Amino acid sequence: MTDHPHDPDACDHYAVMGNPIAHSKSPRIHRLFAEQTGEPVCYRAILVEPGKLPAAVADFVAEGGRGLNITVPFKQDAWQLVDRRSPRAERAGAVNTIRIEPAELFGDNTDGVGLVRDLTDNLGLSLRDRRILLMGAGGAARGVLAPLLEQQPALVVIANRTAQRAVALAEAFADLGTVQGCGYEALGELRFDLLINATAASLQGDLPPLPDGLLAEGGAAYDMMYGARPTAFMQWAKWQGATTVADGLGMLVEQAAESFLVWRGVRPRTRPVIQRLREELAADA
Ligand code: NDP
Repeated sequence: MTDHPHDPDACDHYAVMGNPIAHSKSPRIHRLFAEQTGEPVCYRAILVEPGKLPAAVADFVAEGGRGLNITVPFKQDAWQLVDRRSPRAERAGAVNTIRIEPAELFGDNTDGVGLVRDLTDNLGLSLRDRRILLMGAGGAARGVLAPLLEQQPALVVIANRTAQRAVALAEAFADLGTVQGCGYEALGELRFDLLINATAASLQGDLPPLPDGLLAEGGAAYDMMYGARPTAFMQWAKWQGATTVADGLGMLVEQAAESFLVWRGVRPRTRPVIQRLREELAADA
């Protein structure tokens, strides 16, 4: 037996649970974090059937597991399941990180801080006093709203295909800043410094119905989706003159780093990991 971090007998066990899960990059990211930090972390992906999250988590706890990431479609179920939540998870209504403690399950949400860190630290964008358009009103949009508003933008407009969901979401966060909800047709003559695509449109190779001229001079565009090639939204943003256009790979790595910190008390360096994943995505294309 060795003391290598990836020897299953010598490491603490972590996993990501979701459905589907086969293509998750999380095991790769956490392996790279473990190598970089020397933390004895083993991490695997677990496919969970609909309705079976509580049983899957209980099994993992019984095996001595130390922590979990929870992904689509179980983040709201995980919110219900945990015994205690961080304020940011409480507000997001979703849990993507569970720390298994001796007497309880602690739930956190690292998606929002992951996005903000990618925008500010990696892409060098300042959000203060900016006008931000957040597209989509699903779990991803909800999870990032509080950390975005914390940056004190001038305005966040949430636009959604089903306008009522955007309006309801804006109302739920109105105490944190200036935030409005609407349908795409209501965007009219508004101009934004930053467009964030938190819809599932890119998954279908689709684009939200955006009017031309939405971007202010020097504006930036961010798609939470990522892949080997630019999404339809990223291509559209380039044509619209965006100066910075990015996909969600950095957010994925940043939210993972924050989870690693929650579990281990150590924050891995993210840039080399983002770079490595980018190269691997390109090689797989
Ligand atoms: P949900 O299913 O909760 O919400 C989907 C949202 O997309 C809804 O607002 C829906 O509108 C909208 N939508 C779906 N299809 C279209 C379309 N063709 N045109 C316009 N709007 C559309 O999904 P999530 O919020 O969980 O995830 C959204 C995206 O964010 C996914 O692509 C996911 O991969 C990504 N994501 C990335 C992360 C990262 O780390 N990079 C982390 C989390 C999410 P309506 O309400 O009208 O149905």
